[in-house]
Amino acid sequence: MVTEKVSRIPSFIVMDVLEEANRLERQGKEVIHLEIGEPDFDTPEFIKEEAVKAIAEGMTHYTDTQGIPELRSAIATHYLSKYGVKIDPENVIVTLGTSPALFMILSALVEKNDEVIITDPGYACYKNMIEFVSGVPVYDDEGYLIDPDRLKKLITKKTRAIIINSPSNPTGTTLTRENLQELALMSEKYGFYLISDEIYHGLNFAGKDISALEVSPHAIVINGFSKTYAMTGWRLGYLIAPKEIIEPLKRVHQNLFICAASFTQKAAVRALEAGEKFVKEMVTEYRRRRDYLLPELRRLGFEIKTEPQGAFYIMAGIKRFGLSSVEFAHKLLCEAGVAVTPGIDFGSNGEGYVRFSYANSLENLKKAVAKIERFLKEGTGKNES
Ligand code: PMP
Repeated sequence: MVTEKVSRIPSFIVMDVLEEANRLERQGKEVIHLEIGEPDFDTPEFIKEEAVKAIAEGMTHYTDTQGIPELRSAIATHYLSKYGVKIDPENVIVTLGTSPALFMILSALVEKNDEVIITDPGYACYKNMIEFVSGVPVYDDEGYLIDPDRLKKLITKKTRAIIINSPSNPTGTTLTRENLQELALMSEKYGFYLISDEIYHGLNFAGKDISALEVSPHAIVINGFSKTYAMTGWRLGYLIAPKEIIEPLKRVHQNLFICAASFTQKAAVRALEAGEKFVKEMVTEYRRRRDYLLPELRRLGFEIKTEPQGAFYIMAGIKRFGLSSVEFAHKLLCEAGVAVTPGIDFGSNGEGYVRFSYANSLENLKKAVAKIERFLKEGTGKNES
């Protein structure tokens, strides 16, 4: 038998959908993948080449637990040139993706029953990880982003941190500088941590990304290479935190993970140094896809509250089709061969929605729209009367 906390952790439902979609594909059925949050672009050649070179040169050993100095310096340079903030490479720990970075941060900050404020809907793993470290997720469940006025009402003596994610998964919405500034002021005033998940920075159509470090030197940042540089499979991320958190977390990292893979770290230096052109091209393409898919989904009857400004997701309302989000996603996958993520994966407010990821070619998006249209017309989706 496993421990109670392990037995209680819910599935990351999107991974279940992916498994089911893969099973159908193995049976010979065509599936268009609009469920998974991963760029369809391949990692750029110059990044791959750097990793291959590093392996050939024997870079196949452990590194410092915090990550190679060259990469930590490149991260500091990136934050200086992109956001104008000065960070000390000593305040960076390179991790095996953004996910372990968040897990370590939450393990370091959250005691039993401490509260962490997040949005509902929000990234599924936030809630699950907070509960896994015995904390209590508290939800701002009205808008898609944490709002300073609503936040005031949610703060208690047990509030330990808030997690912000802009551009956001699953809604693609972005925080304004004013809101971010206010959240930072509140974190100082009430003494909770501001954790900023900046993994979708770079994939922003609305304007400039704003790092939490621009508005608060005490903010904790988690970030990674998965989305911006199309490097999901490389498993590489990092956290930036004040020294008093870095010191103990270094020991946690030594014990739990030892270090991130050496040659991927080397390749990530190249990504930061020379990746801008690739990111720009990718963003142009994502924007083209959003501009196609958004009106098409609205035409088909999906309700979309807020126009997404970044990342590569659209949260689309399905209430008028009369099915739960899990039923809708299941039927759409089995009957039309289009995989989407049930909104319930992102919290109870995600019910009544499905999330479309447009990290797929325009050609496939067009095919998917035709399939969904047919699916809804055939009445399988219990179309509105
Ligand atoms: N944060 C958010 C908001 C995400 O969407 C994801 C990936 N789906 C992650 C963190 C984790 O990314 P990774 O571990 O690949 O860096």
